[in-house]
Amino acid sequence: MNELDAPRTPASWRDRPAAQQPSYPDADRLAEVAADLRSRPPLVFAGEVDSLRQQMAKAERGDAFVLMGGDCAESFRDNTATNIRLKLQTILQMAAVLTYGASTPVVKIGRMAGQYAKPRSADTETRDGITLPSYRGDSVNGHPFTPEARVPDPQRMLDAYLRAGTTLNLIRSFTMGGYADLREVHSWNRGFTANPAYKRFESFAEEIDRAMRFMAAAGVDFDALRQVDFYASHEALLLEYEDAMTREDSRSGRLYDTSAHMLWIGERTRGAEDAHVALLAGVHNPVGVKVGPTTTPEELLSLIDHLNPHGEAGRLTVITRMGAERIRDVLPVLIEAVRADGRPLTWVADPMHGNTITAETGYKTREFDTIMDEVRGFFEVHRCLGTVPGGIHVELTGDDVTEVLGGGEHIDVERLAERYETLVDPRLNHQQSLEIAFEVAEMLRG
Ligand code: PEP
Ligand code: MN
Repeated sequence: MNELDAPRTPASWRDRPAAQQPSYPDADRLAEVAADLRSRPPLVFAGEVDSLRQQMAKAERGDAFVLMGGDCAESFRDNTATNIRLKLQTILQMAAVLTYGASTPVVKIGRMAGQYAKPRSADTETRDGITLPSYRGDSVNGHPFTPEARVPDPQRMLDAYLRAGTTLNLIRSFTMGGYADLREVHSWNRGFTANPAYKRFESFAEEIDRAMRFMAAAGVDFDALRQVDFYASHEALLLEYEDAMTREDSRSGRLYDTSAHMLWIGERTRGAEDAHVALLAGVHNPVGVKVGPTTTPEELLSLIDHLNPHGEAGRLTVITRMGAERIRDVLPVLIEAVRADGRPLTWVADPMHGNTITAETGYKTREFDTIMDEVRGFFEVHRCLGTVPGGIHVELTGDDVTEVLGGGEHIDVERLAERYETLVDPRLNHQQSLEIAFEVAEMLRG
């Protein structure tokens, strides 16, 4: 038997190097929590996960466009109905515009309902001469800079599970119960373009308006457009949590990570022989892998060997986060290698993580124009090579935060302090998110 065909087991990651894992002080408590999680109901159903795979296969071919968005790190504190609703509203508004621009369905995937664990560039953080463990996300430890808060606590995985479950429940209620009605979503977008700061998008919104009137005149059943499919995703960083949420589907006998529909592996944990890749190699979910500017074609092909050895459609998404300055140089090399290999994958642009800067006031931020430049570079490269730009992956919130510089409201360095609320990376606010959607929709229209 070929090594790639060897049977996968849920625990095949355990003997591999595992980066970015918490050091829990109490191994027995960790084992208790993992056992508890294992006994709890799954958060998603394998049938839904399979539907997402089919949608991702469409995106691979250019017959759909993927929109992934949400917080860098969700927090327990902000796990409120209002926050969930505003984020969902923002993503639905973006999706409506992109659907029109792409003339294809948009696959809507939240970085929501489980995005509670974060990789960090350093294991410790020092402030005023005091050194403590770094904050690793609410499913690991607390954000306050105190020794008590920063101790990793396995109990937090149970909280994360419950919060993910209630978030998913509310998302399902909204998207099945009428909140996602296309007519309503379109009227929110009309409200956005009525703002003089976004006047340049008004004619685009008018076009959509005409298309909606045409649909109505032609007898389209708008009531059928009151419900949408919305999927959940997060970085599969905490191996114990993801392992405990992995279940065998009673219908097919296949393993699924039931903590979310889609999981991705971060740039810091994507070693092809390492634990995170082994964990996701063993499940049937669609999986993503983030790749930065230093990724070699050999590394990428090795990731494909492990994560999609048989080249199944809709299985693998490569999320590129190259930085605006480098994407035009480094992306073509990877695309050429994948093309020569022949196994399919979906290319998605993350224009956030290669473009993080520190403002002179100390805030970690990003420039709206740089983010747009990376998206533009992504489209240019794919257009030039004749490959499919399959989607975008962005960090956003539905609120009026001031974390990313620029955009139609011209947020400047002084204003960052006004509403800088993220626990880790700076997010596009509601308006900036819609601006990106309109810009990308225009690119998709060509
Ligand atoms: C993230 O998505 O928040 C993240 C840490 O990204 P990356 O792994 O690409 O650095
Ligand atoms: Mn981030």
